[in-house]
Amino acid sequence: MQRVDFLEGAHLIGGEWISTGTSMTTSINPARPAEPVGEHPVGDASTAADAVSAACDAQKSWRALGFKRRAEILERAAVLFEERADELAMIGTLEEGKTLAEMGGEVMLSAETCRYQAAIIKMSTERVYPSAKPGETIRTLRAPLGVVGVVTPWNFPILIPVWKIAPALAAGNAVVWKTASNTPLVSVAVARVFHDAGLPPGALNLILGPGSMGGAMVADPRVDGVTFTGSVPVGFGIRDSVSARNGRVQLELGGHNPAIVFDDADLDLAVPMIVAGAMGSTGQKCTATRRIIAVGSVYDELVDRLSKAVSALTIGDGLDPNVTIGPIVAPGARTEVADALAKAVAQGAEVAATAAIPETSECFFAPTLLTGSTQLDIWTEEVFGPISTVVRVEGDDEAFALANNTDFGLSASVFTTDLWRVDRAVNTLEAGIIKINAPTTGSELHVPFGGEKQSSGHAPREQGDTAHDFFTRTRSVYINPGTPNPYA
Ligand code: NAP
Ligand code: MG
Repeated sequence: MQRVDFLEGAHLIGGEWISTGTSMTTSINPARPAEPVGEHPVGDASTAADAVSAACDAQKSWRALGFKRRAEILERAAVLFEERADELAMIGTLEEGKTLAEMGGEVMLSAETCRYQAAIIKMSTERVYPSAKPGETIRTLRAPLGVVGVVTPWNFPILIPVWKIAPALAAGNAVVWKTASNTPLVSVAVARVFHDAGLPPGALNLILGPGSMGGAMVADPRVDGVTFTGSVPVGFGIRDSVSARNGRVQLELGGHNPAIVFDDADLDLAVPMIVAGAMGSTGQKCTATRRIIAVGSVYDELVDRLSKAVSALTIGDGLDPNVTIGPIVAPGARTEVADALAKAVAQGAEVAATAAIPETSECFFAPTLLTGSTQLDIWTEEVFGPISTVVRVEGDDEAFALANNTDFGLSASVFTTDLWRVDRAVNTLEAGIIKINAPTTGSELHVPFGGEKQSSGHAPREQGDTAHDFFTRTRSVYINPGTPNPYA
């Protein structure tokens, strides 16, 4: 596949690509830090204010265009995602580091999301109610929120933005998107898809810049709602800022997801799923399998088999088709993961397995399987990288209690062929996503997605038809004839 040229990024504000008036910075390829992916302007609070103004100007006419025309534009965006799949995946891999296959998956799921949300908007979610008054009709109306702020992380730089932007636009909102500083140029390519699909100027605005610029955007009283995916502290700060003016806020935050493996599990099936869930996307997934709970006698064989699978992973440049695990997104993020590993080892964790890494970039990090105890900090604190820990427990009660003993509640897996254990898992696990004989990672786009405890806020779920609930407000409408009943 042809390598893309040095990219020139720009903000998208009011339908114009704007790259002047602010400082410029380069975007780094974590697999080859000496080869910048491109450059782009860095915005500030005034950039955010300009984008919100553009969204305010555009929103009413975007809504007035009607659901059918809005759906057509999203369907066109789906086609463009497919047509540009190779290029988008290449830019994403260059900038974020995951493999081309992983990034290509994000592109295809983005196309599917646009089509699904275009279809959802054609189905009425409004209701008609009986009225006590003759001649009166009572119905609900779903109005868009208005201007929506979208704040996204770097780890799924294509799909997470699309699963927020597509339903927001479908419902008639105008969007201001503050993307992550690690992945600006792939964000520009995603915004270009929507722009080229025929969005009117200002319906989608993209701003590139630091977290403080995002803070200014979400604090702008003209922003009616904010949807955020990222870390707990930033998410809670945004919640407080938006809630203080009674705006609507949706949060998808961290995870520390368990996989329980019982002695009746099919390990031929379970082991590759656990390794994929733990190490896929270089372990940088909110749904990654971080805590592996081995119940009783399965422990030795499980650790042995997981170790072999982890050692066999191929780490390197995500553009290389033989590579299964790319680098960590940036040097600073890699240092955090390495520090967490060093601390775990100092606290008594044993390294059961690692994989070899190339020395060509400081961002490569060996996927690591630890064994240890629940006393380790790494057993309770989210580490955003490819480290997972196996702990042995002796019975079912202990296994389920341990799985729930966390501040997070995003996803949880159970590997068993015993239907009673499945029943117990489904009814007792405290997680927004429960997987039986399947990885903690991965979801279907027509199904609601989100977590419990510190993993999510309390707004309607992202994805699926519930996405529409977040991006609309319900109004109750009473319509009377306005004249006395001539037939009475
Ligand atoms: P992050 O540091 O919280 O950043 C997320 C986004 O917020 C970025 O665009 C960031 O901009 C922006 N931001 C930072 N400070 C801000 C502020 N004061 N006001 C407004 N916006 C601000 O998270 P990350 O490191 O990118 O992503 C990793 C985290 O995301 C992990 O905790 C992971 O579990 C979580 N995550 C959750 C889900 C889920 O669905 N539950 C999915 C994926 C990831 P800058 O990049 O410029 O700092
Ligand atoms: Mg980068």
